Amino acid sequence: MTKSLAGRVALVTGASSGIGEAAAIALAEAGADVAISARRVDRLAVLVKTIEALGVRALALPGDVAIEADATAAVEKTVAHFGKIDILVNSAGIIQAGGIENTNLEEYRRVVDVNLMGTVYTCRAAIGPMKAQGHGDIINISSQAGRKNAPPFNAYAASKHALNSMSDSMRQEVGGHGIRVCVLMPGATATEVANNVTDPNFRSFMQSHTNESNTVSASEMAAAIVFVAAQPQRVNIDMISIRPTSDTSH
Ligand code: NDP
Repeated sequence: MTKSLAGRVALVTGASSGIGEAAAIALAEAGADVAISARRVDRLAVLVKTIEALGVRALALPGDVAIEADATAAVEKTVAHFGKIDILVNSAGIIQAGGIENTNLEEYRRVVDVNLMGTVYTCRAAIGPMKAQGHGDIINISSQAGRKNAPPFNAYAASKHALNSMSDSMRQEVGGHGIRVCVLMPGATATEVANNVTDPNFRSFMQSHTNESNTVSASEMAAAIVFVAAQPQRVNIDMISIRPTSDTSH
């Protein structure tokens, strides 16, 4: 039986762990060749082997998505290596704690630079090749924080609200060229996202929030990404919200 994404080429940012890593594997299982980007080269090397063992091609593209040249190069090298880019999954993201009055501005800028600008850079670079092909899927990993606000994660929520807004404006801009844009808003998902939080109290809060027992798994999020990309061309699933059943917040 033909796999649902056979012959497609995908680029996944934030592929060295969590949702991005699971997405890269799920896309490969569905038959796509996959380029993977993140900063941890050792993780990418292991993932290349995992993807190739699934019978498709893989390409590691190390880089910092907050650096425009790195993010743009990831798209350009994907196209140069595979000849096209059908699917772009932007999963690179970070979270830090804090309100406004005492905010660490360096951290605030970094959250916006990675979560918003990193995605702006890759999308900007991918639209040209996707337009030339007459099709393409851009799937941006947002968050439940893209629809809610709270003082402890001002920067994160601001970056994800902006990401949602950027994505929907972009959808309107490029849909006429056959390019589909989707925002996936995960709730608590078992990943490493809490490990890089600098504030120790917020780090332990996030570590328990993303604890295995009460979360969705990264591979369950990845299944939604494959579902979106495998739709008939006329169907654009533009927004998905997935959260644990135990999350009964509004
Ligand atoms: P992980 O920490 O497991 O994965 C984050 C990925 O982003 C890693 O591969 C990391 O790779 C990469 N990354 C971080 N900063 C950069 C950078 N500057 N340049 C390139 N890559 C970078 O967390 P998740 O899988 O949970 O996070 C994926 C996305 O899901 C994020 O956008 C996050 O906001 C979102 N999300 C997660 C939720 C959760 O509960 N886990 C809930 C809602 C949304 P490396 O360090 O190697 O560069």
